[in-house]
Formats: sequence, C-alpha cells, structure tokens
Amino acid sequence: MSIRPLASLTTAPTQGTRRLATAAAYGIAEEPVAEEPWVATYQGRRVTAGSTSDHGPLTLHGARRSVERMRGDPLCPRCHGKLRSPSVWEASWTCPVHGRVEPLWPFAQPSTEFITWLADEIQLPAWLPWPLPHGWVLTGAGYAGRDPKSARASVVACSGPNPLGGAGELMLVAEDMGVGVGAGYAALPGPDPGESIGRGGPQAKVEAAGRLTPLWVVPGPDDRAIYVGEAEGHWLWLVFYPETAGALLLDLLQLADMRGLGHEIELLPYGALTPRMYEP
Ligand SMILES: [Zn+2]
Repeated sequence: MSIRPLASLTTAPTQGTRRLATAAAYGIAEEPVAEEPWVATYQGRRVTAGSTSDHGPLTLHGARRSVERMRGDPLCPRCHGKLRSPSVWEASWTCPVHGRVEPLWPFAQPSTEFITWLADEIQLPAWLPWPLPHGWVLTGAGYAGRDPKSARASVVACSGPNPLGGAGELMLVAEDMGVGVGAGYAALPGPDPGESIGRGGPQAKVEAAGRLTPLWVVPGPDDRAIYVGEAEGHWLWLVFYPETAGALLLDLLQLADMRGLGHEIELLPYGALTPRMYEP
C-alpha cells in the first residue's frame, strides 16, 4: 500500500480546540440525562458517564436518554450556507450559490439512542471506523435529504489522537453522485471528486464491510487530506483534518456500516459534538 509521502504532511496545524464546542453552542437542546450512571465496557475498559480517558473527557449518555433528532435549519451540503426552504413555487431546498440541493441537517449529539435510530432509518451506508483507532470517539452523524429514509448522503464524524501528534478529525461520507456533502468537507468547487478517481493505482485502501476498497487522493486545501473511492454503489469520502491525520490509513482501517452493527452500537464511545459540519 502506498500513501502520499509523509514529508509533505508536516505543516498543517492541529485543531484540538475545536472539539471543546458543545451542543449548546449550536442551539441544540439538551434532554434530561438519566440519573443512573451509564456503564459499559469499551476496549476492555469499564467506562461510566462522565469518566475520563487517557485522551480527555468522554461525553457518554444515559441509556434512557431520549433520542435527539436533527434540529434547526438545514445547510447547503456544499458551502454550509443557509438554504431557502421549499415553497409553493419551488419544491426543493435551494442555495443562493448552488441552486437546488439535498438539505444537510444539523448533526445531533451522537449517543447510543441516536445512532440506533439513524441506523434503523437510513437507507444507504453510514460508515464508521470499527474498531475505532485507539482513543477515537464519535463526534457527530447526520444525513442530507428530505428525511433519513430518503437521504442521499450519510456523514459520520469522529476524532481522536493524530498518529503524528495532536488531535485529528475524520469525516466519513457515503453519497450518491452530485449531492456534494463530501466535496463540501473537502472544500472542492464541484459536487463530485473529479478526474483522479480510478486513474492510476490507488494511494490507499480501507476495508469497507469486509471488502478491500481502493482510495484515491483528491487535491484540496493544505489543511486536510482527502481520499475517495466507491463502496456499495456510493461514493466513499474520507476527509482527515489536519492533513497528517491521513496517516491513520498506513494501517488498514476497517469501516463498518452502522446499519449492520446491531448491539455493537452500544459499545461506541462518544465525544462532544463537532462544529465541523458548520465550517467550510
Ligand atoms: Zn451552497
């Protein structure tokens, strides 16, 4: 397996402070948390709600907490700007810049209940690294589309220690052609990854639902590494921040579709909601 030479990956800043943002900062209401502590075993370690790990506090949620659905106004999947809602004259959500788009709904604070709900509803893959790299946690999940059952893109955010130092973040997107969620996180001008996919040998591989899946590097801004392939009939995007966090692909990353995790969803560790979905 080859990857971009790491010598070219040394200048990006770390962005650990981003993870400190909370759901409250984005107007997402907090539901009351169950009074009994939530206890689970993760990677052989017993964890309880409010406990801390080697990599900072984990935000774990009461098992009886009600599901937090997506709230607030949806955004353009490509520029993360505000949309005009459908009207009697126009059936679609529209971006002043990008025209008709599939609305990208604000992420909910990830929790066992929310991920279980999303996995039941969504009709396309929603990929996450599983097992997660050591110290990594889920920091958001969402979709683009009128509702989850008709979603044309899924997105899962996670963050943890960057193998090359500092904090890293990863956005995983599965989407149909032309939707533009992956391109939005990659800050590309068009909705799709462009010409480099499938041309020449791949620069990395992941295992998606047990299948070895080639990935190609897509050129983009210096502060992120962008890899794209195709899995289960949809684009598969992995956008790493900073660029050096792409070193996670030096080991074979295994991706699981959350729809197939079943009770393993209860083992997922969660962190504070990422502000990444709101950023260009
Ligand atoms: Zn837009």
